[in-house]
Amino acid sequence: MSESLGESEQRRNELALLRESEKNRLLLRNASDGIHILDIDGNVIEASDAFCSMLGYSRQEVIGMNVAQWEARFTAAELAVALRKQFERRFRSLFVTRHRRKDGTVFDVEVSGFPLELDGKPVLFNSSRDITERLRAEEALRASEQRLVALNAELERRVAERTAELEAARKEAERLTRIKSDFLANMSHEIRTPMNGVLGLANLLRRTGATPRQLEYLDKIEASGRYLLGIINDILDLSKIDAGKLHLTLQDFRLDELVRDVAAVVGDRALAKGLEFRVDMAYAPQWLHGDSVRLAQALVNFLGNAIKFTEQGGVVLRCRVLEKADTSYLLRFEVTDTGIGLTKDEQARIFEPFEQGDNSARRKYQGSGLGLAITKRIADLMGAQVGVESEAGKGSSFRFTVRLNKGTARFQGHEAPLLESAETLLARHFSGTRVLLAEDDPVSREVAQHLLESAGLRVGVAENGADAVRMVEAEDFALILTDVQMPLMDGLEATAAIRALPGRQALPVLAITASAFDEDRRRCLDAGMNDIIVKPFEPKRLFETVLKWLSKRRDGAS
Ligand code: ADP
Repeated sequence: MSESLGESEQRRNELALLRESEKNRLLLRNASDGIHILDIDGNVIEASDAFCSMLGYSRQEVIGMNVAQWEARFTAAELAVALRKQFERRFRSLFVTRHRRKDGTVFDVEVSGFPLELDGKPVLFNSSRDITERLRAEEALRASEQRLVALNAELERRVAERTAELEAARKEAERLTRIKSDFLANMSHEIRTPMNGVLGLANLLRRTGATPRQLEYLDKIEASGRYLLGIINDILDLSKIDAGKLHLTLQDFRLDELVRDVAAVVGDRALAKGLEFRVDMAYAPQWLHGDSVRLAQALVNFLGNAIKFTEQGGVVLRCRVLEKADTSYLLRFEVTDTGIGLTKDEQARIFEPFEQGDNSARRKYQGSGLGLAITKRIADLMGAQVGVESEAGKGSSFRFTVRLNKGTARFQGHEAPLLESAETLLARHFSGTRVLLAEDDPVSREVAQHLLESAGLRVGVAENGADAVRMVEAEDFALILTDVQMPLMDGLEATAAIRALPGRQALPVLAITASAFDEDRRRCLDAGMNDIIVKPFEPKRLFETVLKWLSKRRDGAS
C-alpha cells in the first residue's frame, strides 16, 4: 500500500515535472526574444516563435537546423571553435554578428548565450536580438554628430573669416582716418604758413605809419585772417576728435575765471552788435576739476552763435548747479538768446558736422557748420549732454549739462604782468643781442626778422637746419628761433645737433611752428627745444617769449 502510494506520488511528481517542463516549453516558445537552444554541435533543439519568424523559417524547419545555416558572418570552422569555447568556459557570452534569413537577406543581431544542462546534456541557451534599428539609430546619431562637428567647424571658419574681414575693415578705416588726419595736419600747416605771412606783413605795414583808411583795411585783413584760422582750427579739432586723438586735460580751475575769459572773447562782438550780454552765475561753485579749455571752447561756440544769430535783444550765459554730490557737481550751462531761433527740424540736425539751419535768411551769416558738431563731441568726451530748446523767430536756448569733480583751490603763480610791452623791454635790455633765426619760408623769415630787429635785436639768418648748426658752431648766439619743417635738416634734428655742441646745452632754442598738433609740439620739447610759438603768431607773443628766454639766460649766467 505504502509502495503504491509511493509509486503514485512519484508519478504525480513526474507528471508535475512534465507539466512544469511543458509550461517552460510554452513560455520559451512564446518569448518575444529570438531564443534558440543549441546542442553541442550547434543544432537547434528548441526555438521561440520570435526566433523562427526572425529567420523566416517554420518551427519544423528550424528544429534540427545548424547554426552555420543562418550565421552570415563567421565561417563554419570559426563557429565550431566559438561553440567549443563557450561550452568549455561555461560563462555568459555577448557578441554581435549577422544572421541570414530563409530568403537570403542578412541582418544584424546581438547574440547573448550561456551554457546549461538540459536533461543531463550540455546545451547552449542563446537569444538573438535584431539590432538593425538600433544600429541604424546609432548610425544616424553618429551621422548627426558628424554633421554637428562639420557644422561647428564651418561656423568657426565663418567666424574666423568674418573676424578677419572686420579686422581688415578696422585697419582700413584706421588707415583712412590716418590719411585724412595727416592730410588735414598738412593742409593746416600749409595754410598757416602763408597766413603767418599775411598777418605778419599786415602787422609790419601797421608799424610803417599807415593812414586811417589803410589802418581800417589792415583791421579787415587781420579779422579775415583770424576768421580763416578759426575755421582751420575747427576742422582740425573735428578730425582730431574723430581720429581719437583729442584727449581731455584735467586740472583744477576756477569757474568764475573761466566764465570771465569766455565773456572776454565774445563780449566785444555783442557790444558791436548793440546786444545786451549778461552772465548769471548765482550759487555756482568756484573750484572745479576738469578740462577747462574744452569747456570754454564749448561755451564760446554757444555764445558765438547766439550773438551771430541775434539782431535785437540780448544773450545770457547761465550756470546752475543741478545736483551736489560728495565729490562732484552736476552743472548746467545755458546760453539763451533772442535771435532767429530754430525749427524743430533744424534742431534735430544742427549737432551734425556741416549741418546748418536752412532758412534762406541765414545765408547772410558766415559759418562752417562745425561749431556745434565740435561742441557735441567735446560733450561726448566729457560724458556731458548737449541740447537745444528753441522757437523759430523767438530765440534759442542751448544747454551743456556736465558732471565735474570738485576742484582743489590752488595758488596760481601768475607771472607778474608786464608794465611795459615786451617789445619795449627787449629794446631796453637786449638791444644788440645776437639771435639766430632759422626759417625756410622767405615771407615768414622776413616778418620775424623785421619784428626782432624792430625790438633792437641783431638777427642772423639761416634757411635750413644744416646752416643753422654751422652758424651756431661758428658764433655765440644768445638764442635760436627755428622753424620745424625745413629742407636739408629740420628743426628737430638741428636742435639735437646744436645741443650736442660744446657749451650749447643751455642755449635757448624756440620753435616757430605751423603745426597745430599736440604731438608735434611734444616732439619739439622732446628734441630739446625750450618753448614753442605757433604760426601765425601775434608779434606780442613773439616778443614775450623771446624776452622770457633771454632774461632766463641772463639771470642764469649772472
Ligand atoms: P555755424 O554757426 O558755423 O554755421 P554751428 O555748428 O555752430 O555752425 O551751427 C550750426 C547751425 O545751427 C547754424 O548754421 C545755425 O543754423 C544753427 N544755430 C546755431 N546756434 C544758433 C542760435 N543761437 N540761433 C539760431 N540758430 C542757431
